[in-house]
Amino acid sequence: MTAQPVETAPSLWTAAHDVDARRPRSLQTQLGASDTVCERRAAYILAGTTPTDQSDKRAAILGTYIHEGLLGAARTEYGWLVEAAVANESIRGHVDAVQLDEATAARVPARHRPLVPAEHGVTVEDVKTKSTWLWDKVRRYGPTQAELRQVYLYADLLRTVGFEDRRGQRYLAKLGPLEVARIRFRFVNRDNGEEHIEEFPFDPNEATRARWWVQRVRELNTPEEGRRDFDGPGLDAICDYCPFMTACWGLPERPGGPVQTVLIHDDADRAQALEDYVRGHELETEGKRLKKLARAKIDASPAGVYGANELAWTGGNPKYVPDVEAMVDLHEIARIVVPMLPDEKRMVSNLKAAGLAVPEKKTSQTTPKTINVKPYKG
Ligand code: SF4
Repeated sequence: MTAQPVETAPSLWTAAHDVDARRPRSLQTQLGASDTVCERRAAYILAGTTPTDQSDKRAAILGTYIHEGLLGAARTEYGWLVEAAVANESIRGHVDAVQLDEATAARVPARHRPLVPAEHGVTVEDVKTKSTWLWDKVRRYGPTQAELRQVYLYADLLRTVGFEDRRGQRYLAKLGPLEVARIRFRFVNRDNGEEHIEEFPFDPNEATRARWWVQRVRELNTPEEGRRDFDGPGLDAICDYCPFMTACWGLPERPGGPVQTVLIHDDADRAQALEDYVRGHELETEGKRLKKLARAKIDASPAGVYGANELAWTGGNPKYVPDVEAMVDLHEIARIVVPMLPDEKRMVSNLKAAGLAVPEKKTSQTTPKTINVKPYKG
């Protein structure tokens, strides 16, 4: 029996989105540490603005499932404190994992102590799931500024307040403020499970910077005073998936056009945009030149690790294309009619070779709008 696609069975994603919408995190209106990715977005959340856009949350939901599974395993197998709540009057959140050191662990009931205490002091861990196409970037550059800010906000809450005093974790709240010594990032590739871990000492200056960031958002009079930290829909995926995208950028001036036109108010803005365009063009040209020269130089080098980078070669295999003559023969053998559709390219070249004008007809399509920027010699 051949299996057929079924269209009547309900999609599990409908259920998954409904469950996700009921999560405490989705219902929370107070600013969460994980909301501090963009200043203006944080300001919309803080102002209680109703989201204007809905985006596909499937990747985020999958990330949550992986997150829950891994953190559950860390709790049962390693005895780490996972998803414990932290809060003060301006921000709240759940710390992915805290690995207590020996001295602190001795102050909690034995069943909540880590199997192996953190060697270099209390360690705050943040787990991030990433897709393969971001993996190289993660391994090369580590956490983003927003990811650092989030984990420092958690660590700062632990240092200044400790765990939140709430049901289920009173024994943790009794510890009071904790001396956080280390920060650990654990990146997990959600396509193949690969793990990349970075750990470093807690930096009080980073914590202060993160606190100031939140303070600044709280001092804004309106969300629109907040800085747009990303370039907008179509140019940055963070904006493409932002629930306040339309509130932030409005609708495009012409359907299908970019919304970034809202950033131009006068000729000074236009002059600046053209300067940016020219500078971008120069950087691009220089970047391409540099890359082409490096590629040519390395062409005969064997795969291997050289300094901070690993060289690997792919391709170089025979390429296969359909064999037209063999296909015609096969058609004749199998008594299939050989398609005789007009060949546009060939007809154009035939007419040009015969010195005849190629007839054209107007279509409903238009040519793409192109930009032409040259120095003004006024
Ligand atoms: S659309 Fe982009 S810039 Fe605007 S609030 Fe959202 S993330 Fe920030």
